Amino acid sequence: MLQGKVVLVTGGSRGIGESIVRKFAQHGADIVFTYLSSAEKAEALATELSETHHIKVKAVRSNASKYDESEQLINDIVSEFGKLDVLVNNAGITKDTLMLRMSEEQWDQVIEVNLKSVFNLTKHALKPMMKNRSGSIINMGSVVGVFGNAGQANYAASKAGIIGFSKSIAKEVGSRNIRCNVIAPGFIETDMTHVLTEEQKKAYAESIPLKKLGSGEDVANACLYLGSDLGQYVTGQVLSVCGGLNC
Ligand code: NAP
Repeated sequence: MLQGKVVLVTGGSRGIGESIVRKFAQHGADIVFTYLSSAEKAEALATELSETHHIKVKAVRSNASKYDESEQLINDIVSEFGKLDVLVNNAGITKDTLMLRMSEEQWDQVIEVNLKSVFNLTKHALKPMMKNRSGSIINMGSVVGVFGNAGQANYAASKAGIIGFSKSIAKEVGSRNIRCNVIAPGFIETDMTHVLTEEQKKAYAESIPLKKLGSGEDVANACLYLGSDLGQYVTGQVLSVCGGLNC
């Protein structure tokens, strides 16, 4: 479904990002994915997938919250691959605490990694996409960005910001055949949710209509839909992958 396409996934070394990279590799895309600290894991994943699927897979250390690094990354991809078809802004962090205890640093870090990164990468990805008159941008939001969550004001604000940003970009560049959507996962089992105890996970599962936490692959399947021609008439939307948590 993605043969001949060039894809960039930020934060592809672990968790949901890794599942997206694996899914896109199965569907024949050439892939560049970024990481921040997991160099060994990232390189091993790139080698495994390029050998298994006979595609180009490149792992690049690039801090998505840095404007200049993001510009360099996109320029390098265009020089090496000639274009960029799909951008998945997946990199994200949490620094959870109640508002009364939240430091300025905890606020700034989350906004920079989760929201500014989306600006950084989208800004530079739009140039090659506009030239090609084609592109799909997928931004990783969260159900928390829609409903809020106690102890996550910084994270919820970053994810809500992504929704307003994405709807605006969809309106700005739709006429150039560039789409921009948000995926809003619920509870997905990754390192990010491993801080929860088994009891907490059980309690969360009870509150979900489908009665279980989601997997990275559940989110990756939604990315495949929005990144491929299956989603060619879909833009400016928030697609929740949350087991019905939001209904
Ligand atoms: P994760 O397991 O903690 O993985 C985070 C990934 O982002 C890693 O690959 C990490 O690289 C990378 N990363 C972190 N900071 C970065 C930066 N500044 N620049 C580039 N890469 C960076 O997280 P996850 O659970 O897969 O979450 C992925 C996305 O889904 C996030 O945007 C998160 O907010 C969203 N989400 C997750 C859930 C959930 O339940 N898990 C729910 C809703 C939304 P290193 O390996 O090098 O550290």
